[in-house]
Amino acid sequence: MQPLEMSAVDLVAALRQGDITAVQCTTVFLDRIEATNGTINAFLTVDREGSLVRAADIDARRKAGKPLGALAGLPVALKDVLCTNDMPTTCASKMLKGFRPPYDADVVARLRQADAVFVGKTNMDEFAMGGSNENSAFGPVRNPWDLSRAPGGSSGGSAACVAADMAPVAIGSDTGGSIRQPAGLCGITGLKPTYGRVSRRGLVAFASSLDQIGPMARSAADCALIMETIAGHDPGDSTSLSVDVPRYTDLLDKPLSGVRIGRVPEHYAEGLDPEVAKGVEEAFAVLKAAGATVHDVQLPHAKYGIPTYYLIAPCEASSNLARYDGAHYGHRAEPGGHAKKAGGFESPLVEMYCRSRAEGFGPEVKRRIMLGTYALSAGYYDAYYAKALRVRRLIRQDYLDAFQSVDLVGGPVSATPAFKLGEKTDDPLAMYLVDLYTVGTNLAGVGGISFPCGFTKSGLPIGFQLQAPPLAEPLLLQAADRFQRLTDWHRRRPKAAGEVKA
Ligand code: GLN
Repeated sequence: MQPLEMSAVDLVAALRQGDITAVQCTTVFLDRIEATNGTINAFLTVDREGSLVRAADIDARRKAGKPLGALAGLPVALKDVLCTNDMPTTCASKMLKGFRPPYDADVVARLRQADAVFVGKTNMDEFAMGGSNENSAFGPVRNPWDLSRAPGGSSGGSAACVAADMAPVAIGSDTGGSIRQPAGLCGITGLKPTYGRVSRRGLVAFASSLDQIGPMARSAADCALIMETIAGHDPGDSTSLSVDVPRYTDLLDKPLSGVRIGRVPEHYAEGLDPEVAKGVEEAFAVLKAAGATVHDVQLPHAKYGIPTYYLIAPCEASSNLARYDGAHYGHRAEPGGHAKKAGGFESPLVEMYCRSRAEGFGPEVKRRIMLGTYALSAGYYDAYYAKALRVRRLIRQDYLDAFQSVDLVGGPVSATPAFKLGEKTDDPLAMYLVDLYTVGTNLAGVGGISFPCGFTKSGLPIGFQLQAPPLAEPLLLQAADRFQRLTDWHRRRPKAAGEVKA
């Protein structure tokens, strides 16, 4: 089998056995990136030189019989929201163009320690705000299954690069669905762990009470492998959980007999594409055939998920993004000399702040900052932010109640398959509604996984989502892995990307 088609688990084994060197492996993926990135635009930075130096070092250490990390030689792509001390970190924003962090994010440090090879940084919606990757300041990503369609977002580059065989594994972040939704729309597997399972240190903050980092790969087994490296307590993130990391890969191969999966009847409402509904029902049938039982459950407050999320996330964002003012961080505008003019700025300093932010941020980020600032302002705080926090508790309680009677909750990831580029860009509300099925997981702080469960007649992937109680990642991975042992949707490769020429 060619390295491009191999799973991360098999690649690591082949590297360990010496069937392939790290330099060979890295080169294959770098060449693939070079041939396809012009079309897909999944990478903002490609580190050919650095990754080959690292790969050569790993090969040398292996040859010398020195101990190597668990992922030695495995190419990994990193969403450009993760701080890397050897590559720029832009969050796909003009605000951070050229920014080189002085340190590695905790997950990056762990992956480095495990001897993974970083091939580059992936495109995304600016500051992870969006669901289509069209909010990137550096151009949209194209969906490898149909180049006229969006890959989803905000981890669109991470999803597309795995779908198009540009990397076997990518790391994404998920605040309201940004790992699971693009994974679903690109036909790959993505895990959003329980809040606190993976350290957020060095993840550029969007909405700190919702943000979580996770793996994106072709299969649940590959996600399990990566989780063993990236999960774990970090004293540098006060919300990181001090809980042992299970050997996720050892816990995969278990039957699903006795596992109770919840099905939410309200998911099948108006707006759900009939082909998606059919794919999801067929996924339930596969899980049943594997021994699970399916039960209807209620999430009565799920309908408030979108308004709740779109208050809390912008509120936190407006605070987190205050640091990009041209002085502390980010793009600094040239002095304009408008300060003293009538109707101008109060002072040259205020002018510098305002112009830097006006020039550095794109329209969606500005919209979120304004929404959040408004909802947090005196007089509106109780009516919007405080109320949203109360509804969030109810949403979390719904999940905890549901998990009294079932072990997992299943359903669609997105109401439709991948939509056309440009289709929703003029209608922010339509774009926000894309997150209907994913925001609840983040508001509740629980874990969720998405994986392909079929294809539409026109050849677009359909995603299935499972959600689990806090820290039940082993069960999420086990159920998805069992599904993938019984189906081959996750093995399909997009033709569009395959045909892309340099
Ligand atoms: N689409 C959602 C948003 O725009 C989720 C983003 C995310 O998870 N980072 O906020």
